[in-house]
Amino acid sequence: MRLILLGPPGAGKGTQAKRLEERYGVVQIATGDMLRAEVKSGSPIGREAKAIMERGELVPDSILIGMLAARVQAPDVARGFILDGFPRTVPQAQALDGMLSDQALPLDHVIELKVDDAALVERIAGRYTCAKCGEGYHDRFKVPAQAGVCDVCGSTEFVRRADDRAETVAARLETYHRQTSPLLPHYAGQGKLKQVDGMADMDEVTRQIAAIVSGRPLGTG
Ligand code: AMP
Repeated sequence: MRLILLGPPGAGKGTQAKRLEERYGVVQIATGDMLRAEVKSGSPIGREAKAIMERGELVPDSILIGMLAARVQAPDVARGFILDGFPRTVPQAQALDGMLSDQALPLDHVIELKVDDAALVERIAGRYTCAKCGEGYHDRFKVPAQAGVCDVCGSTEFVRRADDRAETVAARLETYHRQTSPLLPHYAGQGKLKQVDGMADMDEVTRQIAAIVSGRPLGTG
């Protein structure tokens, strides 16, 4: 299974990608996570990307295309992948098209999570993750069962992303509409684009995606 999840920051791509990873045994490839790891390690890519990410802009295509090309060749990707955060520009999508057709690995679906901009600032500004296992939480929508303790691993340390502040979120949304939304007609033209209601609750979104993946129209069980 080879999928792309498209949608603005805060649409729920990461949450849904993790669920699909568990359910179908395919790998989530999240370029934002890969870049944050580069920033943390202080690598040359990380040093170049840090300020760009904090401004809510996009890291250059050449860097992302190189990172992705290396990642899709790793052995764990053989069973399939869910791209979360890539491609984000038309040149990235064209490079991906080329990589996949060279390897005779067609995309199955490109799934857009449709969400109103107004809901995104609240969703993003409240989110945080467990510092140890990466489980996601939210100040309003998903708090740990025991305050301050991760439900999954019991850690008491949590982190918030530097680019999740309200000021940066507006820039990230503008970047999405200007540079990433042109991918919708790109994939619609290939007959690959499907849409789900990203405003629905998380389980319903998972159900809608599962229906697309299984080729079963909704409502047929
Ligand atoms: P994300 O975790 O997907 O929201 O990504 C966080 C930030 O990483 C973005 O705001 C961009 O600055 C950068 N980034 C992630 N993926 C890409 C990409 N495909 N192209 C360019 N920049 C990216």
